[in-house]
Amino acid sequence: MSLSVDRSAAAAPDNVWEMAQRQLDEVARLIGLSDAIHQFLRVPKRVLEVSVPVKLDNGAFRCYMGYRVQHNMARGPGKGGIRFHPDVTLDEVKALAMWMTWKCALVNIPFGGAKGGVICDPKTMSLQELENLTRRFTTEISIIIGPEKDIPAPDVYTTPQVMAWIMDTFSMQHGYSIPGVVTGKPIAIGGSLGRDKATARGCLYVIDEALRVLGRKAEGTRVAIQGFGNAGYHAAELLSRQGYRIVAVSDSRGGAANSKGLDVAGLIAHKQETGSVAGFAGADRVTNKEVLEYDCDVLIPAALEKVITVENAPRIRAKLIAEAANGPTLPEADEILYDRDIMVLPDILANAGGVTVSYFEWVQDLQETFWEEDAINERLKRKMTRAFHEVYDQAHRFKTDMRRGAYAVAVDRVAEATRLRGVYP
Ligand code: NAD
Repeated sequence: MSLSVDRSAAAAPDNVWEMAQRQLDEVARLIGLSDAIHQFLRVPKRVLEVSVPVKLDNGAFRCYMGYRVQHNMARGPGKGGIRFHPDVTLDEVKALAMWMTWKCALVNIPFGGAKGGVICDPKTMSLQELENLTRRFTTEISIIIGPEKDIPAPDVYTTPQVMAWIMDTFSMQHGYSIPGVVTGKPIAIGGSLGRDKATARGCLYVIDEALRVLGRKAEGTRVAIQGFGNAGYHAAELLSRQGYRIVAVSDSRGGAANSKGLDVAGLIAHKQETGSVAGFAGADRVTNKEVLEYDCDVLIPAALEKVITVENAPRIRAKLIAEAANGPTLPEADEILYDRDIMVLPDILANAGGVTVSYFEWVQDLQETFWEEDAINERLKRKMTRAFHEVYDQAHRFKTDMRRGAYAVAVDRVAEATRLRGVYP
């Protein structure tokens, strides 16, 4: 097996795990990573596949499949969200776990990378069914999670309430409260102030910094956002408060756009009333795909993977893309964007605010003392700004894009920890 991949010759992977491996292969070549460490980092440390039987409201049982993948733990316990979505696959979870390893290393927090997922459609499930599913899944993966082992968090369609059930289930099994087993919890049970908006806030900080180096001002900068959940919704709110103009947004049911700017407060109220941003008065109806190509300065993909492709990359009009979502850009599309002089703030940088405040939450839980929100935001800003400049410097050093710059920083840190620890036994 050849570990180095010729980017020009390779076919576009529509498998995110292959995509994640390929991103590593490229940076391994770039930074001269030893073959031994490259091979070690190319595969997950541990994969757990579980069946999750759930009692439904009608009395019947249904069995769901779930996964927890721990990619690498050289720098600390595993960290990564749990996704509830019908399209979850093991390969997707493996890719997301690997990206978590790089993300935690990039913002220099003492965690490795992990991720979980359950193949289910939470939109069609009652709250009771969701609770049953969460508690059973937690029980199934409880053999490998814990505050010193692996700490889950929210991801697509998992909420603070889901985190509360995870915390409670794990605590019940051990006989005492263990808030540090999971982050993104409600404040009342050991959650952190600022965690709900942390992913979006981190994204805002790196967008601010990118505009600064590009010599542009935030005021009036036009922003399009795909996805209006935790990441996208808070990004719209925070960015509009800083003077950015939100011109297009979408969720799974469609989008709304207005080149003069959308009234974000009205949009949020509309989403709360109708369940979607689509159909918002005073805006044009746009599809999810059209949002990506909308005339704007900054594009924030904040939904799912693989949405920026060779087809739409030539038509994207933004000058800056901030990947709030994980894995939204296919490698070939990256190439096109780089050639078109569009700066991409890669996922492992742009959405690292979430895991950074998750780290703060874990630290607070372990110390049993809680910080003010200002202090949290200030620490987050410092971490994000430093990471941005480390990535920017590496991208310049290697004359490459920001993604490879970010990987150069992150992979080097994980490789160093791996080298120092050595191979046991
Ligand atoms: P969420 O469940 O809160 O929201 C997901 C959003 O995506 C919703 O608006 C939904 O309507 C939309 N969506 C779902 N399917 C879609 C489709 N097929 N097309 C377009 N939109 C679709 O999830 P989230 O936490 O905001 O996560 C969104 C992305 O951000 C994911 O890639 C996730 O991994 C990433 N992320 C989230 C966090 C976090 O702290 N929540 C941290 C880092 C990265």
